[in-house]
Amino acid sequence: MPIQQNVDLAAFNTFGVHCNARYLAEINSLQDLESALGFAQDEAIPIQLLGGGSNVLFSQDYPGLILHMKMRGIECLNEPGRVKVAAGENWHKFVMYCLNKELYGIENLALIPGTAGAAPIQNIGAYGVELEDFFGELEVYDMASGQRRIMDKADCQFGYRDSVFKQELHNRIVVLSLTLQLSPIPAPCVEYPALAKELKTVEPTPQDVFDVVCHIRQSKLPDPTKLANAGSFFKNPVVSEEKYAALLSDHGNVPRFPTFDEGLVKIPAAWLLEILGWKGERQGPVGVHDLQPLVIVNYGGASGADILNLAEDMSASVLEKFAIVLQTEVRII
Ligand SMILES: Cc1cc2nc3c(=O)[nH]c(=O)nc-3n(C[C@H](O)[C@H](O)[C@H](O)COP(=O)(O)OP(=O)(O)OC[C@H]3O[C@@H](n4cnc5c(N)ncnc54)[C@H](O)[C@@H]3O)c2cc1C
Repeated sequence: MPIQQNVDLAAFNTFGVHCNARYLAEINSLQDLESALGFAQDEAIPIQLLGGGSNVLFSQDYPGLILHMKMRGIECLNEPGRVKVAAGENWHKFVMYCLNKELYGIENLALIPGTAGAAPIQNIGAYGVELEDFFGELEVYDMASGQRRIMDKADCQFGYRDSVFKQELHNRIVVLSLTLQLSPIPAPCVEYPALAKELKTVEPTPQDVFDVVCHIRQSKLPDPTKLANAGSFFKNPVVSEEKYAALLSDHGNVPRFPTFDEGLVKIPAAWLLEILGWKGERQGPVGVHDLQPLVIVNYGGASGADILNLAEDMSASVLEKFAIVLQTEVRII
């Protein structure tokens, strides 16, 4: 497995940020992974896993080895609805594969960029469905022990755009493959208001859901191949009921998402940012998308620092006006 030296990462992150990685290795097999890890150990350099680069921001040059996950393969297992996908497969293509095989459930997660292996890292979610709803198990490589093992749903500690891989096991686990438990019987999830509004039929099929999700996403979100971005930069903040009541009395009709844990309220970060006038704002080569204030875009030539500066200004204004700390959804490297 060749290890490339001094690689420009612009083509490896959807923000299109130019920065230099000291080394980069394409990981097509377990053997590639083990030899790349051996190299990093010999050189005493850090490692960074990378899939499609659609949820990361390189804020500076990377001094270690990037492991670009390229492992391929999709397999329908013997149990009904059970399907296994290798970490390097494209997520959206996998969603289409499942739909074609009449395996249902993840059609709401259509068009999310990136790889299958990264999907559990932040428990991807959209239009009323999260990965954890259809999770079976993960096959992982534990870099601390050098062992392969299986992790079940409880092991992964999934939360809202969160998992154990962003917490205690941060940078310790390589996802090799993901197994989902899908339904051979159509059971579309159509409660999400924006989805329900667009579905024109009384009894929509999974294909209808897939089509409408793709349509909504294409009309609302910038395609990173045309306008560089990494999707939502911030997570929606979760506040106590008391805090929410205070926001209502100070700012009037603050929207909330329909359900969440008892005593807690999830507020759309996009609403907070829109009230503050961030939609369409520009700072040199970076800006906030015209239709979606959660999305920061690189109009061309922006550095990671430019993007970070804008993000910091946005979160500082939310803190000042609403006394809410925004957390980033994008992983800053
Ligand atoms: C236009 C746009 C829309 C988006 N919409 C959504 C959305 O609706 N919902 C949503 O949840 N996300 C969304 N995202 C974010 C992103 O697509 C997802 O988080 C996706 O799962 C990231 O996949 P990736 O392969 O690009 O991961 P990367 O950005 O390459 O990596 C993300 C993290 O996962 C780690 N990682 C990657 N591969 C592995 C592996 N095999 N093993 C262990 N760790 C690994 C990386 O180290 C990094 O910490 C959107 C992004 C864009 C650009």
